[in-house]
Amino acid sequence: MDKIKMNTPIVEMDGDEMTRIIWQQIKDILILPFVDLNSEYYDLGLVHRNETKDQVTIDSANATKKYGVAVKCATITPNAQRVTEYNLSEMYKSPNGTIRAILDGTVFRAPIIVKGVEPYVKSWKKPITIARHAYGDVYKNTEMRALEGSKAELCITDKDGVEQRSLIMDFKGDGIIQGMHNTDKSIGSFARSCFNYALDTKQDVWFSSKDTISKIYDHRFKDIFNEIFEAEYKEKFESAGIEYFYTLIDDAVARVIRSEGGYIWACKNYDGDVMSDMVATAFGSLAMMTSVLVSPDGVYEYEAAHGTVQRHYYKHLKGEETSTNSVATIFAWSGALRKRGELDGNADLMAFADKLEKATIDTIESGIMTGDLYLISTLENKKKVNTTEFLEAIGKLLTEYCG
Ligand code: NAP
Ligand code: MG
Repeated sequence: MDKIKMNTPIVEMDGDEMTRIIWQQIKDILILPFVDLNSEYYDLGLVHRNETKDQVTIDSANATKKYGVAVKCATITPNAQRVTEYNLSEMYKSPNGTIRAILDGTVFRAPIIVKGVEPYVKSWKKPITIARHAYGDVYKNTEMRALEGSKAELCITDKDGVEQRSLIMDFKGDGIIQGMHNTDKSIGSFARSCFNYALDTKQDVWFSSKDTISKIYDHRFKDIFNEIFEAEYKEKFESAGIEYFYTLIDDAVARVIRSEGGYIWACKNYDGDVMSDMVATAFGSLAMMTSVLVSPDGVYEYEAAHGTVQRHYYKHLKGEETSTNSVATIFAWSGALRKRGELDGNADLMAFADKLEKATIDTIESGIMTGDLYLISTLENKKKVNTTEFLEAIGKLLTEYCG
């Protein structure tokens, strides 16, 4: 069997702990026997991030801009305990945050659906993709405690020094106050990323906020989405047979629960944070959730939505058997390879990505699964296997499909 050739590299970002172990196994068992892998490798494992003072993260993001497609392994975001554990010279920032700041993107999260792992919401038949705006609002706020007798005002001083003031509250008792912002540029990027991703995946876009209450702030989001849609996307959506609509967040929640899925739900930062956890849980498992960062200029970075599965890694280090679910990481690879194939007109590579996903789903639906799925699967003939056995079972099917 000839291996599939790749003309352009993908950017490969290696990571930490159990997902780093899985990363190598996925390559060895599911990718390298079939594909002549052309990747530019960046080691984002914490040890090497520390050795390079985090420069490797910045380099990997710039390489992603250059080549257009990346696949990323889960990485540790250091806290005080990790600084000690890895003897770090600094408490480095979240790699995802650094990469997102360089690529300026929106994160899309979608569940992988398999028979036997049934959504808690009976009507859901297709994935619901959440697009979360990843800049501003309450995540970049200023908060203060306001004591009795204080007067809080909102004040903007423009570039000529002219002030615009508005009373927020005359505090008759003790209270709290918060200020937040967003920018037209960031909201515009968010809108374009959503519309591009919708065209890519042929799905409708729903955007929701609370513009009836927030008549300037949320209304600005609604207006920007609308202006960009009318000016740049309306015709493209019509020819793709998909639609965009705006609705109040309350209405969106009600519709989502009654829907059968199969669309992109664009959410403001906080709404997206909360709703993506709800949607992931309601679909069954965080280990079955993919995540892709899409920049407004069409750069893609694929990863799993879960972390480095630390507890399993410590078991692995002690030589104990693990049963870690590799599905979301496999789908990060298939997503990146398919996108590479699409951009390069490489039909063989795209077909391989489809086969890899099919082999993965078929393996689980045949009853072979990791412990997390074994606990929730409704299949009767289910069997729990270890981390490596699971990948080998997928590899066996994949060899058949590629034969
Ligand atoms: P986590 O790695 O997602 O794991 C949380 C728990 O969820 C695990 O202990 C495990 O439960 C279950 N789980 C998650 N993924 C699984 C999988 N693939 N297969 C089976 N079970 C799975 O989150 P965390 O423990 O909060 O974070 C660990 C590290 O990951 C942290 O250092 C954090 O900074 C990092 N992190 C990275 C990313 C990223 O790179 N995108 C995202 C989130 C967190 P049981 O132990 O009960 O089996
Ligand atoms: Mg959250």
